[in-house]
Amino acid sequence: MRLANKTALITGGNSGIGLATARMFAAEGARVAITGRDRKKLDEAAALIGAGTVAIQADVTDIEALERGVAEAAEALGHFDIVFANAGIGGPTPLGQTTLAQFDQIIRTNLTAVFFTVQAALPFIPDHGSVILNGSVHAVLGLPHSAGYAATKAGVRAMTRNFATDLALRGIRVNQVTPGATRTPIWNSRAPSPAELAALEARYTPAIPFGRFGEADELAQSALFLASDESRYITGTEIVVDGGATGAP
Ligand code: NDP
Repeated sequence: MRLANKTALITGGNSGIGLATARMFAAEGARVAITGRDRKKLDEAAALIGAGTVAIQADVTDIEALERGVAEAAEALGHFDIVFANAGIGGPTPLGQTTLAQFDQIIRTNLTAVFFTVQAALPFIPDHGSVILNGSVHAVLGLPHSAGYAATKAGVRAMTRNFATDLALRGIRVNQVTPGATRTPIWNSRAPSPAELAALEARYTPAIPFGRFGEADELAQSALFLASDESRYITGTEIVVDGGATGAP
C-alpha cells in the first residue's frame, strides 16, 4: 500500500481524472475527500471509491463555499497529506465571440480556484505533504479557440513552480500532472453530440504519436507517484502524460 494511513483532498473528484485518482489513492490505502458541484455524481463516486469517502458539494468558483468545503473535509479527515487541485472546465473562447462572463468563468474555475484551494488547504497540510495541480498541454501549445483555457493552464504551470518555492522550507512538495487529450466527460463541453465528439477525436488523434487519447487511469498513475514517498525529492515540476503530443515535431 503506497498511501497507507494517508489522507487526500481531491477537488473535482466525482468525474474523469479526479475520480480515477481518488479510486487509485483509496486502493493504495488513503482516506479520501472529494468535492464537486453535482450531488448525485458525488454520491455515485463515493460509492465507487469506497467506505469512508467524504463527498462534499462545493462550487469552486464561489470562494467562500470552496473554503467552507475544504474546512469540512479537514474536519472529517483531520489533515491532508495530499491535495490534488484538479477541478476544471474546458470550453472554447473564440476571438470575436467570447463574452467577459465566459472568459471570467474559465479563469475563476481553472486558475483563481486553484490558488484558493491550496491557500484554504494549507493550514491542514503537515510538513512533508504533497500538493498536486492539474495542468494541461494547452499551456504550451497553440490550438484553435483555446486562448482562455490555455492561459489558465499556463497560470497553473507558473503556480506549481512558485508554490513549490514558497513551501519548500516546510518540506511540502508541489508538482503538476499535465494531461494531453484524455478521454473524460470534459470533452462533452467541446462537442455537443457523439458524432461531433468522434469528429473532434479524429482531428486531434493524428497529432498524438501514440495514436490515441489517454485514459483517466493513466493520469492517476502519475498523480499516485507524485503523492507517494517515492517522489520525495521531486518538487516544482510536472509529469507530462500526453502520448508524446508535445514531444512530437
Ligand atoms: P471532467 O469533466 O470529467 O471533470 C471535471 C471535474 O471538475 C468534475 O469533477 C467537476 O465536478 C469539477 N468541476 C468543474 N467545475 C467545477 C466547479 N465550478 N466547482 C466544483 N467542481 C467543479 O474532466 P477531467 O477529469 O478531464 O478534468 C479534470 C482536470 O483535468 C481539469 O482541470 C482539466 O482541465 C484537466 N485536463 C483534462 C484534459 C482532458 O483531455 N480530459 C486535458 C488536459 C487537462 P461537477 O461536475 O460536479 O461540477
